[in-house]
Amino acid sequence: MATVFDYRAVSSVPEAISLLVQYGDDAKVLAGGQSLVPLLNLGLAQPAILIDINGVEGLSGVERRDGELVVGALTRHALAEHSMVLHEAAPLLAEAYPLIGDRQVRARGTIGGSMAHADPVAELPTVAVCMGASLRVEGKNGARDVSATDFFVTYLTSSLGADELVTEVRFPVTAPGTGVSFQELVRRKGDFAIVAAAATVELDAGGACRNAQLALAGVAGTPLRCEAVNDVLRGNVPSPALLREAAELACEGIEPESDVLASAGYRRAMAVVYVRRALEAATERAAGT
Ligand code: FAD
Repeated sequence: MATVFDYRAVSSVPEAISLLVQYGDDAKVLAGGQSLVPLLNLGLAQPAILIDINGVEGLSGVERRDGELVVGALTRHALAEHSMVLHEAAPLLAEAYPLIGDRQVRARGTIGGSMAHADPVAELPTVAVCMGASLRVEGKNGARDVSATDFFVTYLTSSLGADELVTEVRFPVTAPGTGVSFQELVRRKGDFAIVAAAATVELDAGGACRNAQLALAGVAGTPLRCEAVNDVLRGNVPSPALLREAAELACEGIEPESDVLASAGYRRAMAVVYVRRALEAATERAAGT
């Protein structure tokens, strides 16, 4: 049976919040519609009202502000993908954007929608966790900032309150000379990843690692940030053997589940491979080789 719902196009954040307060869990925010509309089609989402935020001014754009790269929630993937500001400030993010779906999906999809949808293998949440990004969310009690690691709770679930809207995603600006890499295992180009690894590696003048960050996706209900990699690499010249060791350590204790795409054992084995590849590529780029 067809789902019947109300539709309201809002023009401001306060207007959206006031409808979210009124309808609570019965409301759904509509941004690019690339995840929500398929769910509506399948009857998996049955809201009483869709709150269309596409007409809200000031929610789209990419800029550097106070030492951070700020991406407005309504920024389409296609706009961000071609932003020189974004390429210079967050090269890992720039590398991940073209891997999302296809041109049609990127023409409509937004970063706020990708974060709120909280798919555990989506590229942007994985980069956000790797880079230590934060999200600005606004609700009836005002605005708050939440780290990406705290924002994602489990599969398709975030810590966003029923009255809250994501308004910005803020990424720390990547230090010059940092190498980055996003590696993903996909069956076909543009598919959601089976396993993905995002890495940044910063080297000092002597070639020793100053800082390394890694996030792994496809092995849990959220992207995982692997601090152990930095503990192993920091202060050392990253040899192939050390990068292998770091990859194995990053994947220690992961407990992926089997699904139609891959068994748990295959995911675990591929996680080590893709983490190692991401660390190797980021290190090579940092070293300028
Ligand atoms: P919508 O679909 O409009 O909304 C998604 C959810 O977020 C809804 O629950 C909505 O209520 C909520 N929401 C939206 N904006 C906000 C906000 N500002 N504040 C609070 N809640 C909000 N994604 C990938 O990462 N990688 C892929 O490879 C990939 N492939 C795809 C292939 C296809 C064929 C399709 C259709 C989609 C694919 N996507 C992929 C998803 C795409 O990136 C979506 O754009 C994204 O997940 C959701 O963004 P949206 O703006 O379309 O959100």
